[in-house]
Amino acid sequence: MQIPIIDLKRQFEPLRNEIREKLSTLIEDQAFVLGGEVEALEEAVASYCGVKYAIGVGSGTDALILALDAIGVGRSDEVITTAFTFVATAEAIARLGARPVFVDIDPRTYNINPEMIKEKITCKTKAILPVHLYGLAADMDPILDIAKKHGLNVIEDCAQAIGSEYKTRRVGSMGDAAAFSFYPGKNLGCFGDGGMVVTGNKKIYEKIKLLRNHGSDKKYYHTLIGYNSRLDNIQAGVLNIKLKRLEAWIKARIANAAFFNEALKGLPLEAPLIPEGLRHSFHLYVLKADGPSAAVTDFLNKFGVEARSYYPIPLHLQECFAFLGYKAGDFPEAENMSGAGFAIPVYPELTENEKLHIAQKIKEFFK
Ligand SMILES: *Cc1c(COP(=O)(O)O)cnc(C)c1O
Repeated sequence: MQIPIIDLKRQFEPLRNEIREKLSTLIEDQAFVLGGEVEALEEAVASYCGVKYAIGVGSGTDALILALDAIGVGRSDEVITTAFTFVATAEAIARLGARPVFVDIDPRTYNINPEMIKEKITCKTKAILPVHLYGLAADMDPILDIAKKHGLNVIEDCAQAIGSEYKTRRVGSMGDAAAFSFYPGKNLGCFGDGGMVVTGNKKIYEKIKLLRNHGSDKKYYHTLIGYNSRLDNIQAGVLNIKLKRLEAWIKARIANAAFFNEALKGLPLEAPLIPEGLRHSFHLYVLKADGPSAAVTDFLNKFGVEARSYYPIPLHLQECFAFLGYKAGDFPEAENMSGAGFAIPVYPELTENEKLHIAQKIKEFFK
């Protein structure tokens, strides 16, 4: 049995005809950049997230950069974020000339530890950038409290978390703006790169609409120095079809996660926590071993179950961030998780047999 960590071919199978038909219409139209499919998707994603506005952009990374740019993050500013995430989160901050200020994670949620944010606030702090890692919402109530008290903006990194819920709210609806990624491997993925910013703030919305399109809303009149970061009609056409399935896919992921949580009980592994009142969307199902996970992932890979670490190096130890001056030991929980955490397949199309096989192999390793 070979079970890859992600398998887009299985997701495509039942959508093949519908997507092919849509693509062939869009190709005949020969209208590629922005367009009707993009506008329909913006409306649908805004409504799905419970926010007023959405802007389709070139990628999740661009969505972060444009959101930070729109709230005025620039040189000499600081933005507080987690040390344990995909590089793009902090890259977006640094790309604007601002300084990423890292905070360690909560050892049970793997998200930014809200109790450690306050001590990092300085007169240069402009915003907090929490990440809803693996599909679990960061603990937003205390984060929003701190932000309010100190007059900071909050930008949510929702790249891994479309459809996740924090108490009664969908992710993307809690901060001043939020960034989504439609990278193919994300829970809602297109056929290339794509992303979206959502916001309830009209000023931010209007600014990002300009920024994504060379600072222009009238051809050859440029009010801002902008970017070329526009979602295209073909990507949006694919996403409009997939978005209709997203709820069913998330439910299947949650059911698969529940299966593994139950099947792996009693092993020396920490299963993903689902705090009361939250809906985890299980972009990734990540287990934490009580030591380095390399031996168990090697074993699983040998038996056809693809398993791997997300992420093997926390951001404060990445070469590209050496200039920030952090060192090993600065964020012990992030460092521990980078060695001990490992993801196993959790996608909706897993069969019962595959799930049993995965659980069986993990149990065998610990026997
Ligand atoms: C994927 C991802 C991004 C970047 O999205 P792209 O569409 O690949 O640019 C940003 N943050 C996190 C947490 C991600 O997982």
